[in-house]
Amino acid sequence: MIIVRVFERKFLEMDKLLYTGKAKEMWQTADPDVLRVVYLDQATALNGKRKEHFAGKGKAANAISSLVFRYLMDHGVATHFIKKLSANEDLVKKCQMFPLEFVTRNVVAGHFATRYGLKEGAVLANPVEETFFKSDDLDDPFINESATVALKIASHQDLMQMWNICRKVNDLLRPLFAKAGMQLVDFKLEFGRLSNGEIVLADEFSPDNCRLWDTATNHHMDKDVYRRKIADLTQTYDEVLARLQAVIKEGN
Ligand code: ADP
Ligand code: UDP
Repeated sequence: MIIVRVFERKFLEMDKLLYTGKAKEMWQTADPDVLRVVYLDQATALNGKRKEHFAGKGKAANAISSLVFRYLMDHGVATHFIKKLSANEDLVKKCQMFPLEFVTRNVVAGHFATRYGLKEGAVLANPVEETFFKSDDLDDPFINESATVALKIASHQDLMQMWNICRKVNDLLRPLFAKAGMQLVDFKLEFGRLSNGEIVLADEFSPDNCRLWDTATNHHMDKDVYRRKIADLTQTYDEVLARLQAVIKEGN
């Protein structure tokens, strides 16, 4: 076992850093279709303008995301996830990413509240679906379907397929988080295309890109504790992980 680990490590040393993002590094492995993702111990707000180090955050975010992606795959959602390599590393299928962020909202919060002058907290009559063009330089502007198609970012069919997956994810995760004592307020998903043309759910699902409120107290259990300076980020993520582990049997 130890020999295999050392051998694997030697291979990892040959990986090439492709991209350093706000929360993760993406490394090219020897297999052109496989990337190694490293979850970093850092959090950012205001599109990277505010940045801080949090020991243990990468490990917690990776553990949550791996658990959620496995759960989604077990329930028929195609994703990029291959396996967890270590506490803060995964192997994923390399994608050509759509530069889009798909936001689903179940409850009024964040920019949806400020944009329309609403108080946070009302449950929406139906999930609200919004797409943003992923660009740090432009501050991720809102983009509608005709602009997305006209700019050849994605076809109408691609968008329909990705929104269908978003709906399925919401239908699966809303009750799962509810069971774990958390309200799934909103979340952001990203998608990519594999070398065989298939569209899959990619990136991550962690409290970095969703809002979770404690069902009993309405306390924030996501990156808003950092954005709004409410509580310790790593402790909060560890609590989310513990609650999810209690309702999902790992490896199932
Ligand atoms: P950001 O780019 O927003 O700062 P991250 O730090 O999370 O975000 O960086 C991860 C980057 O890797 C994102 O740009 C994301 O779109 C991209 N990505 C996620 N999954 C894959 C994948 N399977 N293949 C290629 N790129 C991916
Ligand atoms: N979100 C994200 N990345 C972004 C913008 C938003 O992951 O670049 C997530 C955010 O964590 C929340 C949801 O998308 O769960 C809706 O975010 P909102 O538009 O309200 O913006 P925010 O207030 O988070 O800036």
